[in-house]
Amino acid sequence: MLTRRRFSQLLIGSPLLASSGFARPANAAPVSPAQDMGAALSQSRDLLIKGGTVVDPSQNLHALLDVAVKDGKILQVAPDIPADGSRSVISAKGKIVTPGLIDVHVHIFEGVGPTGVNADQYCLGRGVTTAVDAGSAGYFSIAGFRQYVIKPSATRVYAMVDIGARGTLMGLVGNYSNLDWVNPQLTARAAEANKPDVVAIKARLSKEITGANDLEVLKRALEAAKISNLPLMVHVGDSYSPLQDILRQLRKGDVLTHCFTGRPHGPLDANGKILPEMLECRERGVLFDVGDGGPHLSLDVAEKCLQQNFLPDTIGTDLGGLSYNGPVYDLVTELSKFLLLGMTVDQVIERVTLRPTRMFNFGVELGTLRVGAVADITILEVREGSFTFSDSTGKKRTGRQKLQSVAAIRAGKTYINRSDDV
Ligand SMILES: [Zn+2]
Repeated sequence: MLTRRRFSQLLIGSPLLASSGFARPANAAPVSPAQDMGAALSQSRDLLIKGGTVVDPSQNLHALLDVAVKDGKILQVAPDIPADGSRSVISAKGKIVTPGLIDVHVHIFEGVGPTGVNADQYCLGRGVTTAVDAGSAGYFSIAGFRQYVIKPSATRVYAMVDIGARGTLMGLVGNYSNLDWVNPQLTARAAEANKPDVVAIKARLSKEITGANDLEVLKRALEAAKISNLPLMVHVGDSYSPLQDILRQLRKGDVLTHCFTGRPHGPLDANGKILPEMLECRERGVLFDVGDGGPHLSLDVAEKCLQQNFLPDTIGTDLGGLSYNGPVYDLVTELSKFLLLGMTVDQVIERVTLRPTRMFNFGVELGTLRVGAVADITILEVREGSFTFSDSTGKKRTGRQKLQSVAAIRAGKTYINRSDDV
């Protein structure tokens, strides 16, 4: 598959990093041989990331700090940790060091239907250490997703089970038109059987998918979510019924994705004000995900929501076969769109590190650089310049900053990212 970007190159095995030039992150400051002398000493650290600005919203950190890793876990976060005694050293000077980025909305059932892309190429290769597949599999195929995507991927992968039996196997159009294939008991049973990899149920409530069945599909999806004790993620935009009828039924912990859709039945009223039902949902603990995906993000709608102080809870990409080659590209590009709309670097990082861990139960401590947590880390660069971004309407906007992924560390293993700019 040719893309506008070269494939990111993955490199497993951090020991190479300190000594070999070809494995060095693009544009990273060279690692001096002196920093490798520690290898001869007793190695108390497997990896040391030196000189970066640590941004970790889970600990309210935004400071120049070094991060040490041992046995796949965070060992220490402190200023000026000596390089001696470190098996491998990465210079992160001028870069941002964050907890491994979490994309709560991707489609990575590669080879199954039109939406799946390769997890490691588009997630870990672009700085995303954890990705949640948003219902590419239904109850018929979730076990296969686990076997052929979750198990072999270097990216940490979780999944939602679609309330429709076929997931995205045959695309989306008409997926729920036959309600025989929308079975809450079988969906719940499949979700239960595949926990902890399954973290939610998914339902897509656009009229080309549901026909007139949207509220019945929602009822069945909520039933599956209740039985399996999981949150429900609901996709909206051009629904058959008004958005308000959907919002009223969402529970605390459920997720509404495509929250800034520009399609009919979006989050704004005719005067551009946020619907009161959106605010009521937030009040009772419903969470809101961006889920750009290509057709699901209007920058104008997002801007109006942000102006009314309605920020997303998570910035999931909805990356898949229809959007990896634009306008989504990858998570760092998506985050850059929200920088353009006025959010800060800390705010966007929070929505792909700390906040996703409040949305889903990953069964392991992610989204943090707390000592003892798994060493999932992303190194980012903020590039300054002139960058063009587009949305579902085809409208283009120019931003002055672009986040770029330099490296991702997953459970202590380092993967160098070499994606080009869009
Ligand atoms: Zn999606």
